[in-house]
Amino acid sequence: MKRIALFLGLAALGFGQVELSTDPSLHVLPVQGNIYMLVGAGGNIAMSVGNDGILLVDSGKAEMADRVLKVSLDLATRVVGTPMPNSCLGLRCPAAPYGWSSPSLNARISSPARPKPIRYIINTSIDADHAGGNARLAELPKDSKILGVTFPPVGVAPSANVISHENVLNRMSANKPGSKDQTMVDSSQWPTDTFHVAKYKLSEFFNGEGVQIMYQPDAHTDGDSMVYFRYSDVIVAGDILNPTSYPVIDLEKGGSYQGILAGLNAILDLSIAEFRSQGGTMIIPGHGRLMDSGDVANYRNMVQIIGDRVQDLLSKGRTLAQIKAAKPTLDYDGIYGSPDAFIEAIVKSFQKK
Ligand SMILES: [Zn+2]
Repeated sequence: MKRIALFLGLAALGFGQVELSTDPSLHVLPVQGNIYMLVGAGGNIAMSVGNDGILLVDSGKAEMADRVLKVSLDLATRVVGTPMPNSCLGLRCPAAPYGWSSPSLNARISSPARPKPIRYIINTSIDADHAGGNARLAELPKDSKILGVTFPPVGVAPSANVISHENVLNRMSANKPGSKDQTMVDSSQWPTDTFHVAKYKLSEFFNGEGVQIMYQPDAHTDGDSMVYFRYSDVIVAGDILNPTSYPVIDLEKGGSYQGILAGLNAILDLSIAEFRSQGGTMIIPGHGRLMDSGDVANYRNMVQIIGDRVQDLLSKGRTLAQIKAAKPTLDYDGIYGSPDAFIEAIVKSFQKK
C-alpha cells in the first residue's frame, strides 16, 4: 500500500503538478505555511490565504488587477475549502466517533467554501508595478457576483485596508508639477492606512500569525517596507531585493546605496537557515525567483563588494566616467547585466554623504 502511495506521489510530481492558478499567465507558488507567491502581474505579489481572508503584499500592475483578483479568490476558495486528509471513513475507524459521517466526509459532500475577500493590501513601495492594482483589489464592488457569491459577504467591510509607509502616500498625493488640482497618482490608488515608525504590525493575528511591517529608509526609494510573516517564516522584501538585475536605486524618490545595503543586511539578520545556509526562512524578492538566506547573502556580498570597489576608486579621485571605465562590476555583469545605473547610483550616494 505504501509503495502504491509512493508511486502515486512521484507520478503527481512528475506528470501533472496540481496547478494552483486558474490563469495561464499568472503563476502561483506555495511558499510555506499560509504564504503563496503570485508571479506575472508586475512585481511579485505575496498572498496570505486562510480563514480570515486574504492579505496581499503588493497589488501588481493596474491592468492585471482583474486577473489577480480572480486568481486570489479562486486560490482562497480552494485552500480554505480543502478537507483535512483522513484515510479512514466509516463505523470501524479507530477513535472516530462519527460513524458514517465525519468532518472529512462532510467537507467532501458539502458545497464549496465561499471565496474569502481581500482584507489587507500592504505596499512595499510606490512603484506602479507594485501598487498599481490597489484601487481594483481593495474595492469589493457592491452586489457583484464573484464565483457565484454576492459581494461583499455579510459582516465584512466593503473594502480592504491598504497599508504603506507615509512617504508612499506623500508622494502619491503630491501635486503634479505645474498643476494645482491633479495629484501624481489618482486618489483611488492611495493607501488608507500609513505609518511613520520603523516597525509596524497588524494589531492581531491574521490567518493564525503575526504580520510585521518593517520600514527600510532610503533604499530603493524613501518609502520601502518589508513584510515578515512570523509563523510561516516568510519575508517579503519588495524591490530592496531584486535578483534579476543590479539593485535598482531610485535616487529621485529618495533611494540610496547605503539604504539598499542596510535593507539586505536586515533581511539576513531576520533569516535563519534550516541547514548550512539553505532552506529555513524564505524570502520573496520584488522580482525574480524565491530565495533563501544563502541566496540573499550572495546578493548582499555582491552589493557590498562593488560598493567597496567604487568607494576605493572615488577615494583616488576618479571621475564617474573613469570609474565606469575601470569596470568595477566586470565579474558580475554576466549575471546582472548592465551596471551603469547602479554605478552612478553608488557614486551619487557616496557623494551625498
Ligand atoms: Zn519592482
